[in-house]
Amino acid sequence: MSKNARMTCELCEASRLTEWFYEDDECWIAECEVCYVPMVVWKIHDPSPSSDIKDQLHAKLAAVVEEYFDYEHYVDDNMRQIPEHYHAHARSRKGWFGQPVPRRNR
Ligand SMILES: [Zn+2]
Ligand SMILES: [Zn+2]
Repeated sequence: MSKNARMTCELCEASRLTEWFYEDDECWIAECEVCYVPMVVWKIHDPSPSSDIKDQLHAKLAAVVEEYFDYEHYVDDNMRQIPEHYHAHARSRKGWFGQPVPRRNR
């Protein structure tokens, strides 16, 4: 947890309301409770990671989509709800906003 975390930031609080797919020292990836698609959240309360870090976060997100889901994604890091803390959604190229994305049969 970042020392800069403000108590009011829900991404810093990282309450596990939805399924978590992945976590490491740098980020966590969970289903977005609003959009029903996986999203990666950087563990640092900052809106603009370096492009190296962004690449890594996006690669980890892609790996989660590959492992758990069955759709073609694009990375959407337009941060509408929480503009001060970097996160990115793996949205479906098909479907529409807010539609649950298909999971792999496991
Ligand atoms: Zn935050
Ligand atoms: Zn969302």
